[in-house]
Amino acid sequence: MILPKPNRLNPEQVAEITAITKEFGCHVQPIIGKVRTIYAIVGDERDDLMINRLEGLSYVERIDRIQSPFKLMDRRSDLANGRLTIGGVTLGEELLIIAGQCTIDPKNPNLFYETSQAVKEAGAHVIRGGVWKPRTNPYSFQGDHKSLDILMEASRRTGLPVDTEVMDEEHLKFAIDAGVDMLQVGARNALNYSLLRAIGKAIGDRPQTSVLLKRSVHMGPINEFISAAEYIAAFGNPNIMLCPRGTTPTLDGYRNHPDESATPLLKEKTWAAVVVDPSHSVGKAAYVPAASLAAVAYGADGLCIESHIAPSKGIGDDPKQSITPGVLTKVIKQAKQLWKIRRE
Ligand code: PEP
Ligand code: MN
Repeated sequence: MILPKPNRLNPEQVAEITAITKEFGCHVQPIIGKVRTIYAIVGDERDDLMINRLEGLSYVERIDRIQSPFKLMDRRSDLANGRLTIGGVTLGEELLIIAGQCTIDPKNPNLFYETSQAVKEAGAHVIRGGVWKPRTNPYSFQGDHKSLDILMEASRRTGLPVDTEVMDEEHLKFAIDAGVDMLQVGARNALNYSLLRAIGKAIGDRPQTSVLLKRSVHMGPINEFISAAEYIAAFGNPNIMLCPRGTTPTLDGYRNHPDESATPLLKEKTWAAVVVDPSHSVGKAAYVPAASLAAVAYGADGLCIESHIAPSKGIGDDPKQSITPGVLTKVIKQAKQLWKIRRE
């Protein structure tokens, strides 16, 4: 990883480091931070001659060589010095709340507008709303492109940033063009390396775009989760939050098995913020408040909670696992208190 002296290099300097790394079979990938851009060396960076030549350049501060399967996401990486700010909240300084419907019903935009306003009043900083939905059953509602306009209208009306899941590169393009602030990678796609790569690259000239990476139920060791995030970072976007969302159930009655206890493990290895999704973790509205507090107790930096103004009128997961804005208000209040207690 090349750490430049200025906040970013000019095109001639980028061309020079690119040419040097190319001689050694590597290439350079800029990782665009809000203030500073760093340059990852992609490939085998063990050649001392390459490192010496790069370190000798007047505009290079130093080269970091971290021996880790995820050198950008590693706690020792330079990226650990950056802090992500979303919806006015700097992660690590305040508990981030993402809330809103599982699924936007394109036939009922007003429900989404009302939900969005209500979750804002409950204390949410980011509105979530599913436009395209990964459904187990191919005959279930798959989402609707029209919902993207509804999502962005809710953002304009509330003044809050929005989060939505993108399942493929076509969705990604539509979401980026529409100005979606937070791209969600769902549990089913968390191991889809082509999509992770494309999401990393999609940051383009919108360095504020963040990514909420869910944990796949198929992920084994914790390194597999962090390595999935490494793909996004290595292809250009370091604004990543890791999202445990429940894994294969071992207890009868749970939709998934809560995995908020992965939080301290993640924090030991990576600098990334952990935003837990208690809704999918338990799959039942009545259990969501406890699961939210458990996540905060384990050290979560944020929560992503499904909430709906009238869950019984919802679609997708909303009827079974969305909490009402009234319940959300209380959950946020208690979660914030607990978050403070943890810091005493
Ligand atoms: C969702 O957030 O509505 C969703 C489908 O999540 P997951 O990918 O965790 O199942
Ligand atoms: Mn859902």
